[in-house]
Amino acid sequence: MEQPNLESIFAQLQASAPVLGRRRAAERIARLRSLKKALHAHRAEAHAALRADLHRAEPDTDLNELLPVTSTIDYVVKHLRTWMRPEKHGLPITLIPGSAEVVYESKGAVLIVSPWNFPINLCLVPLVYAVAAGNSVALKPSELSPATSAFLTKLIASVFPPEEVQVVEGGVEVAKGLLDQPWNHLFFTGSPKIGSQVMATAARHLTSVTLELGGKSPVIVHPKFGAETAGNRVAWAKGLNAGQVCIAPDYALVRKDQREAFIAGFQTGVRQYYGARPAENPDFAHIVHERHWDRLEAWVEEARAGGAEIWQIDRPDRSSKYYPLTLVWDAPKDIELSCSEIFGPILPVYTYIETADAIAHVESGSRPLVLYQLSHDRAWSDGITAATRAGATVINDFFLHYMHPSLPFGGVNTSGIGKSHGLWGFREFTNARSIYRRGRWSPTMLLAPPYTEWKRKLIAMVARWL
Ligand code: NAD
Repeated sequence: MEQPNLESIFAQLQASAPVLGRRRAAERIARLRSLKKALHAHRAEAHAALRADLHRAEPDTDLNELLPVTSTIDYVVKHLRTWMRPEKHGLPITLIPGSAEVVYESKGAVLIVSPWNFPINLCLVPLVYAVAAGNSVALKPSELSPATSAFLTKLIASVFPPEEVQVVEGGVEVAKGLLDQPWNHLFFTGSPKIGSQVMATAARHLTSVTLELGGKSPVIVHPKFGAETAGNRVAWAKGLNAGQVCIAPDYALVRKDQREAFIAGFQTGVRQYYGARPAENPDFAHIVHERHWDRLEAWVEEARAGGAEIWQIDRPDRSSKYYPLTLVWDAPKDIELSCSEIFGPILPVYTYIETADAIAHVESGSRPLVLYQLSHDRAWSDGITAATRAGATVINDFFLHYMHPSLPFGGVNTSGIGKSHGLWGFREFTNARSIYRRGRWSPTMLLAPPYTEWKRKLIAMVARWL
């Protein structure tokens, strides 16, 4: 593929940014509606692209790629006029007479860099907020989902002229070249390791960043929840996109006496959702790339060598990049499976005796993107929430906070910086600009030097209010 001219792409987007920033809500909404229409019109191509890249089932593409984008557009269209309105603020007595407000103005030319695991969703949801906020946008999808990247290039070109939004396909070198430009904002979704490099590069231009990252999201099971049910539900949650989900439960913590029932529930769940031979099931996604397949296999082998018990319903197959839902228990705490984000269909299970042990396990690692709890005991779950820090907590289900249009989505520290979705998503792509306006008469000059006796008295009076 011919290397795109990144400087000229940046220059073009930067030149059009002021015009886009002045666009009224109606014009921004018109673009978003066209994007929704195009997505509906090209739904079959989206299905085919995800089937090619990830062996993804078509209903999964509808539910987890297209629906999040179209429902985000609907939500934004409904609220954009309110979000764009200047926010009036009252005045402290010292600033009277005058008026104060905050206007949420576009940042300018922004760059969105996305991963491959939900390649339509993770490119287009941030794009919707960036466009709603009045920015020009370069979109860099992942090189590991090439069919979807090609689909996005075509889709975006059918909705946006190149001076408004451009898809820039390519690998790491293209990503690095784009990052060298002085963007007004950078929205990166990907791994904590690359996120930290991206932030360091952005710091060279002091470009503001939103980092949507990953990590190890635990699921803690209450002793009385019903361990078999818990295992069954986690099998479903880990099965989605073959565990290649930033908010997938990474590992489970169950009380020691519940372990056998949990394991049985997980095994039943795998059969229930994907049959006896998931390798042949079109509803079960495959691993995106041989490199990731090799990583998963190596991590399971490391666990086996370390004495862990391993259960797989059928054999991994590198030629089709199929990796089965895998359960691992008694895994050592210092191996890759226990320390690094798994991002695949492997579930390590650890046991606890006291709830405090489970909390200590979570707190000993970096802060998760989501902390899941399966519990009907409100006091217990409130206690866990209060004792831990995470981007989100979901109790008795999986993923659903992502689908709520006004809940902020994002991590903490290594799992992310900044928030997306709803008003949070809009604001992330804007500059909150404070505007203070004095009336015709300004008392400020009464406080200017020279500090005569009466001015000193006046300032002493003002100081009493501070
Ligand atoms: P990745 O970090 O390897 O790549 C993400 C993007 O960064 C790709 O477009 C890639 O081309 C680009 N990139 C790669 N190396 C780069 C470099 N050195 N400099 C600049 N850009 C570079 O991530 P991935 O493997 O595509 O995705 C998996 C990770 O993403 C997981 O950690 C997962 O948890 C995370 N993720 C997070 C969210 C979220 O919303 N928080 C969503 C999906 C995935």
